[in-house]
Amino acid sequence: MNRITRRALLALSAALTLAPAAQAQDRVLNLYSARHYQTDEALYANFTQATGIRINRVEADDAGLLARLKAEGSASPADVIVLVDAARLWRAEQDGLFQPVKSAVLEQRIPAHLRGGEGAQGAQWFGMSTRARVIVYDKTRLKAADVDSYQKLAAPALKGLVCTRSGSHPYNLSLFGSLMEHLGAQQTEAWLQGVVANMARAPKGGDTDQIRAVASGECGVAISNSYYYARLMRSNKPEDRAVVERTGVVFPNQASWGTHVNIAGAAVARHAKNRDAAVRFLEYLASDQAQRYFADGNNEYPVVATAPTENPALVSLGRFKAETVPIAKVGANTAQVQQMLDRVGYK
Ligand code: FE
Repeated sequence: MNRITRRALLALSAALTLAPAAQAQDRVLNLYSARHYQTDEALYANFTQATGIRINRVEADDAGLLARLKAEGSASPADVIVLVDAARLWRAEQDGLFQPVKSAVLEQRIPAHLRGGEGAQGAQWFGMSTRARVIVYDKTRLKAADVDSYQKLAAPALKGLVCTRSGSHPYNLSLFGSLMEHLGAQQTEAWLQGVVANMARAPKGGDTDQIRAVASGECGVAISNSYYYARLMRSNKPEDRAVVERTGVVFPNQASWGTHVNIAGAAVARHAKNRDAAVRFLEYLASDQAQRYFADGNNEYPVVATAPTENPALVSLGRFKAETVPIAKVGANTAQVQQMLDRVGYK
């Protein structure tokens, strides 16, 4: 055997021994998720069933995930990162934790205003489901027309009635970031001041706590993500039925720019080792089947307009006009919003 043939054979056998290992690696996807919904189990199991790719899931709150990713650096095993809310996705993008993805499937299925960090190489992140930031009010004290826009939450007529969770929570940061797009910075800060002046109590708790506080009479009106209310609508517990009975829901700003809508989104990690599987997973999340899990399982809205869903609570809430402001701009505004909150004393 001459030297060249031997070298070629050695190379071939090396390739043969490596091949199964590389293939085995492709069958795993490391998913870092900040979603906190039990119904996501089926969403992930379904992907494994369809592709044979196993999912290793690391779940933590968003701050924990981001800290971990930064600490791991280029050694991070993360392939896909799922975060909730544009404020957080924008932050992670700024921290260089994602890489752009160019995919005809994702571009065709997900509307451009729900993608972030878009450049020639593709987008840094993709919205996979949406949630509307709705207004919930006490039907015994107010009418829908009293609270049919975000602006009205600052009106003197609502003095002592308004409840929200912390202004610095990403859900609120993004809502206020969206208002900045529509009203400008100056008017938004004045509005924030008006909301603080109208508060029934200092901000505390989560969105569901605000809804319950409206039903108990402690608050007259509150802001909540739509899926929390839909969850109460679908509950069989008598105490939840009573909450839904006493409260009304408004999709704000139907006569103007539409209700603020945020996203849960996914991105391929900057140092993903299984990039192909990661892109495949993102495309799966945009499939009809996965979109249905978001809508029917967790009461979110699909980002894919044509995805068929059948969630009785969402049907009963009805169709509404959603804003179409680029969600990436909303995320980018949140840094400035935080400074406004500090100035007006919105905790
Ligand atoms: Fe939530």
